[in-house]
Amino acid sequence: MTSTPLIERYRDLLPVGDATPVVSLGEGDTPLVEMPRLSERAGVRLVAKIEGANPTGSFKDRGMTIAVSKALEGGAEAVICASTGNTSASAAAYAARAGLRAAVVVPEGKIAAGKLAQALVHGARVLALDDGFDAALSIVRAIAERHNVSLVNSLNEFRIDGQRTAAYEICDALGDAPDALCIPVGNAGNVSAYWLGFTAYRDAERSARLPRLYGFQAEGAAPLVGGAPVERPETVATAIRIGKPARGQQALGAMAESGGAVDAVSDQEILDAYRALAVEEGLFCEPASAAAVAGALRRAAAGGFGDDDTVVCVLTGHGLKDPDTAIEGSAGLQRMPARLEAVEEALFA
Ligand SMILES: *Cc1c(COP(=O)(O)O)cnc(C)c1O
Repeated sequence: MTSTPLIERYRDLLPVGDATPVVSLGEGDTPLVEMPRLSERAGVRLVAKIEGANPTGSFKDRGMTIAVSKALEGGAEAVICASTGNTSASAAAYAARAGLRAAVVVPEGKIAAGKLAQALVHGARVLALDDGFDAALSIVRAIAERHNVSLVNSLNEFRIDGQRTAAYEICDALGDAPDALCIPVGNAGNVSAYWLGFTAYRDAERSARLPRLYGFQAEGAAPLVGGAPVERPETVATAIRIGKPARGQQALGAMAESGGAVDAVSDQEILDAYRALAVEEGLFCEPASAAAVAGALRRAAAGGFGDDDTVVCVLTGHGLKDPDTAIEGSAGLQRMPARLEAVEEALFA
């Protein structure tokens, strides 16, 4: 049997009809994995939702399966997005699957190598602008208004509808919603989607309670924490390097309503969490994802969780997306002659 498309597993909770063509790559149904060593350190049960296990390596696929299915149903000729990387990788793959053209507009600055490779290999037109993400987004919005092209940024409500399903899966796996959810925040679409998902599931009586939502931005790109847009956002976590979150107000409302909060973590905390996940738990995520764990560790150290809490950290994207960051901060290679004694000495001396 082949994998059941996300759309089929939660069809009753999604905006699809009998006429909607299902464009699927086998997304969702991602693992929920205990983090025993980090839990021990934090003094609270930390669990990771491994969204890097999606087909293109990030949670963006949950929204993209719906957005591209609806674009196809609506007769769009192409899809377009502005993206720091993962949206373009996902849009390119799902457009290829649907037989649609894709255009992705990337902002200036470094795009992680894996994400760029994905957009290119799937045949998308990749346009690199000499300005930041926010400028890229306003240009693609204007293009989508003037042409028969579907905008698949997270402004697209179908993306948010699809991304809700991660909350459904967590409730199904744990038997109810967790006590708290920690999640990185960029454009703030995902944290908004989780809240809609948890509330929809509770309202459908498929879970009994709601979690507190804690969103984490990087200190150099923390407009929701500072209360004002950031003109030149800067952080190692490129997936959340966003100065004007498209869904900022919605996300602030969701976090407040849940009894949670938004906070910022430093690049050093992000990289420390990134290493700890890889070395102590065997979990390789991209730096933006590690912001959720950095935030959970900080919050735990400040006594911000109950002793018996289950805290789910959303690892939003796979570490292979950004091999440069992985290699830069690592011990590197040790070169040596091809002799048994040399290798033995290096390993055991
Ligand atoms: C898109 C993305 C985010 C941020 O999600 P938003 O919905 O923009 O807040 C975080 N991590 C990764 C890996 C992403 O691709």
